Amino acid sequence: MIRSDFHCHTLYCDGKDSPEDMVRSALEKGLAAVGISGHSYAPFDPGCQGMTPENEAKYRRQISRLKKKYEGQIKIFCGTEQDIFSPAPVKPFDYSIGSVHYLKTRDGYISVDDTIDILRRLRDGCFGGDIYALCAAYYETVSSVCKVTGCDIIGHFDLISKFNEDGSLFDAQDPRYRSAWMSAADELLKADVPFEVNTGAMSRGYRTEPYPSQEIIRYISGKGGRFVLSSDAHRKEDLTFGFERALEILNGLGIEPVDPLDLIENK
Ligand SMILES: [Zn+2]
Ligand SMILES: [Zn+2]
Repeated sequence: MIRSDFHCHTLYCDGKDSPEDMVRSALEKGLAAVGISGHSYAPFDPGCQGMTPENEAKYRRQISRLKKKYEGQIKIFCGTEQDIFSPAPVKPFDYSIGSVHYLKTRDGYISVDDTIDILRRLRDGCFGGDIYALCAAYYETVSSVCKVTGCDIIGHFDLISKFNEDGSLFDAQDPRYRSAWMSAADELLKADVPFEVNTGAMSRGYRTEPYPSQEIIRYISGKGGRFVLSSDAHRKEDLTFGFERALEILNGLGIEPVDPLDLIENK
């Protein structure tokens, strides 16, 4: 039984709808709680779609207003999706999702999830055309996301596979790829922070299955890791998108996800 969704974006970052639209959509979908997770400010990215400090202040005020307005109807949480390279929040949020969206290179911070062409240029320009070296650098960065951000939830662990569902960029069974993600998973498991099963690339048409891959989910679960479901919705209609499929995958592996409401409310 899914009662909440804690990963979504609004007009305060790169989402298409207002926080109130998201709250109304959550109510229509019968959720007991919704967490809004605006992207952290990324001043190193000229095309930054995160919240500027000014926007972040407005975001916090708007969500406090909504908490009062919808009190007794739905629980609302003011969160952030904290990129590992963003400045730390000045004031704490109700919760944070720790994510890696860039690699730090000699050419600056390059996005790994913007377009496949940017990813190919990154591979060729900074990794001598070696996609496995790029993946290793990505997972090396991911391995410290809990330490750096102090997050409550680990965002889209294998985001680097966003454009690779057809296997055209790399072979997910290659030993170099597998050892890279396994090392990162082992490091993050020490923090005992749940991993997302994130359906955002499904609603946006990049993938037919959620992140992480079933192989990764099985590995993490086998070592005692926990999971939460996240839609990473950028439009109100996409809240809880693909949750049935995500749940089917988890249940098929004998896993029951943690409800982020229990996780965040009792932290
Ligand atoms: Zn993200
Ligand atoms: Zn997100």
